[in-house]
Formats: sequence, structure tokens, C-alpha cells
Amino acid sequence: MTDFTTIVSGAGPAGLAAAILLAQDGVKTAVIAPASTQADPRTVALMQPSIRLLKFAKLWTPEIECVSAPLQTLQIMDDTGHYVTAPTVSFSSDEVKLDCFGYNVPLTQLIPAMRQRALDLGIPIIDTKSETSELFSDHILVKTLDGQSLTARVLIAADGAASPLRVACGIGVSSWSYDQSALITVFSHTGPHNNTSTEYHKTAGAFTTVPMPGNRSSLVWMDRPEKCKALFGLSDQELATEIQIETHGRLGRISDLGVRKVFAMKGERANIFAKGRTLLIGEAAHTVPPIGAQGLNMSLRDAAQAADLILGADDPGSDGVMQDYNDMRKVDVVPRQQMISLVNMSLLSEYASFGLLRAAGLAAVAKIPPLRDLAMAQGLAPSSNLPFAMR
Ligand SMILES: Cc1cc2nc3c(=O)[nH]c(=O)nc-3n(C[C@H](O)[C@H](O)[C@H](O)COP(=O)(O)OP(=O)(O)OC[C@H]3O[C@@H](n4cnc5c(N)ncnc54)[C@H](O)[C@@H]3O)c2cc1C
Repeated sequence: MTDFTTIVSGAGPAGLAAAILLAQDGVKTAVIAPASTQADPRTVALMQPSIRLLKFAKLWTPEIECVSAPLQTLQIMDDTGHYVTAPTVSFSSDEVKLDCFGYNVPLTQLIPAMRQRALDLGIPIIDTKSETSELFSDHILVKTLDGQSLTARVLIAADGAASPLRVACGIGVSSWSYDQSALITVFSHTGPHNNTSTEYHKTAGAFTTVPMPGNRSSLVWMDRPEKCKALFGLSDQELATEIQIETHGRLGRISDLGVRKVFAMKGERANIFAKGRTLLIGEAAHTVPPIGAQGLNMSLRDAAQAADLILGADDPGSDGVMQDYNDMRKVDVVPRQQMISLVNMSLLSEYASFGLLRAAGLAAVAKIPPLRDLAMAQGLAPSSNLPFAMR
């Protein structure tokens, strides 16, 4: 007899989503996570399948909806200034018969709402860190930093990119760095955003504005680390001017900047996504640069897929479950990560041919209807085998 059926380590959005999906279906679940000291200032563009998951998990409340903005148009603009540039690609949600592709949701509101939902479902959130795990034939034991030992049939490691539990179960990672950082903030503007998210492709990375309610947008500015450091040190007025220049004045005058944070950019993928009664989800399994808003959307698919397999199994930690989870997540994560990396590297590369290839790819997507449809469908989610909570 184990303490729990499932232990989830980590209370970021991926871990909390998995715990909520399991507990609302009656699975005895605990979360091990240190009480968070700092709010996550990012906003995340979540596509319709992720919004369906939030609805299914009773997280899409009026309070969350009113601080989120619909994404009706997604635009990619070649702003490299290269000799050959791609045409602007613009996707409208009307083309796929949706009101919007998804919503831009602030994590400052979403994570506390998820935490509260978990507590309302009776999930114990054990305020410590997991340190390591030990595998037994029919269960797994998790040891915490404060000396507790807890057992479960299956463990979900949602403990972020450094994931101590991924290390504990002997899964290695492939990592690569991009010599890039991303500065994030939010700002007000005098012009309307028309519910349009614009990804400007520049020579040191993507610069993306994403609509928020009213005349406000969030910003992810990818650039060389030294540039991001310099931007971080500017006064609000100076940074507003820089943003106005980079957006070519399209959003009008910029003011009223929010909290800033800089993230180092890297790519990382676990060599296998499940092993020894441990399922890796979210950044414990994969990290991608913020291009095309894929990171958390993939992580929520991890969470929902893990929940589906656990709910359907006699032994949720069996080798069969591990194998199925790995196979199902690999076909979604690996090509998506490769595509994001390719786009990013084509911006950073000094070789003109790489840039030409990207321009040709974007031109094809802009002009060839079946490719447009494919790009829009794949941008939303994989076309088949979506987990139950996202259907
Ligand atoms: C600049 C930027 C913009 C982004 N924008 C988007 C977007 O628009 N759309 C999108 O889909 N994705 C986006 N992403 C990706 C998205 O933010 C991440 O994929 C997501 O936050 C990862 O969630 P997670 O729960 O896996 O990890 P995390 O949020 O890192 O959570 C891990 C949790 O584990 C806890 N933890 C760590 N160690 C332990 C331990 N030993 N024991 C217990 N708990 C532990 C941590 O405290 C943390 O709470 C963006 C990423 C960046 C960097």
C-alpha cells in the first residue's frame, strides 16, 4: 500500500495541471513543491487545446478570462533587413473557423488559480523540495529535502529544467545553447493591437508582441545576452523608446512598462521521457526558445497525456505506461523542437543560405494554401491523438 497513487514534484503550470486532472478523476495525488516566493511575470499564449484543458479542469474562470486577451491574428514579419526578405505571413482565426487561436494568459494569475484549484480538490501540497527517488518493483519512493519519504505507484517529475528527479531516475539530457537571452515585460500603447500577436524576425532572434486586454501588450524580446542585459538596465522611458523603434511605431506611443525579467535561452531534451515509474513533463522533459508559443502548450499536452495513461492503467507505473508515454510524447515534442530550433538558428546564422531557406519557407507558407492550413493546424496542436482533456 503506497501513500499516494501519484506524486507530482513541482508546482509550475505543468505539474499543477497534471495533479488537477488526476485528482478531479479521483486519483489519490500529492504535490511536492516549495511555496513559491516570486510570481512568474510571464504571460503565455495558450492555444485552443490548452484553453479546452483549462475549461475541463475548471480553471477558465471569469477572473482568468478577464485578464486574458484573445489571439485572433498571428503575424510573422521578416525584420532582418536582409537583401532577400520573406513576405509577412498573417494567419487569421477565421480561416480555421475559430473565434480565436487561443488566449494570452498571465502566469501571475493563472498559477495561483491552479494552486487554489488543487487545494480545493483536496490535493496536499507538501511544502518542500524533492531530493531523490528510489525505485521498487511495485512503487517508487521520493525523499524530500526536509527528510520525508513518500511512496506512490507513479511519479510525475514536473520539477523544471534542472529536474533532480530526472537525474535520480538516470535519464540524461541533450542540451544546446543559443547565445541568446529573452527580455520580457508588458507595456501600454496608444494604438490598438487588434488582438494580433506579431513575431518580428530580427537578426538576433524573434521580437514578439502579444495582446493583453485593452491597449496593452506583453513583449518577449530575444537578443544577444549582452544586449538583453543592457536593455534590462535602461530606464522605463528609454526602454519604451527602444520598443517603439523595434515595433516601427505600429502600436503607437509606448508607456507604462511592467516588471522586467531576463531568461537565458537554451534548448534541452531528455533522452527518454519516462523510465522507472517516473514520467517527465514540462521543462523537466523539454525546453524550447519562445518562438511560435509552443513551450507550455506542449507541457500541458504532456500533463494531459500522463493523466490519460495513469487513469487507464491497472499499474500506472508499469513499463507499458512508460513506453506508451515516451512514444506518444516523442512524436509531438521532437519535430516541434527541431522546427523551432531551425527557425531560431536561421536568424542567428551568419550564413546567408540559412536565411534564404527561412525566407523561402515563409514565402511558401504565405502563398500555398495547403501549407498555410498545415502551419495553422500544427501551430495549434498535433492533428491527431490529443489527450482527452483537450478534445
Ligand atoms: C520568455 C518566455 C516566454 C514564454 N512564452 C510562452 C508562451 O507564450 N506560450 C507557451 O506555451 N509557452 C511559453 N513559454 C514556455 C513556458 O513558460 C514554460 O514551458 C512553462 O512555464 C514551463 O512550466 P513547467 O511547469 O514545466 O516548469 P516551471 O514553471 O519551471 O516549474 C517547475 C516548478 O518546479 C519547482 N521545483 C524545482 N525543483 C524542485 C524540486 N526539487 N522539488 C519540487 N519542486 C521543484 C519550481 O519551484 C517550479 O515551481 C515561454 C518561456 C519563456 C522563457
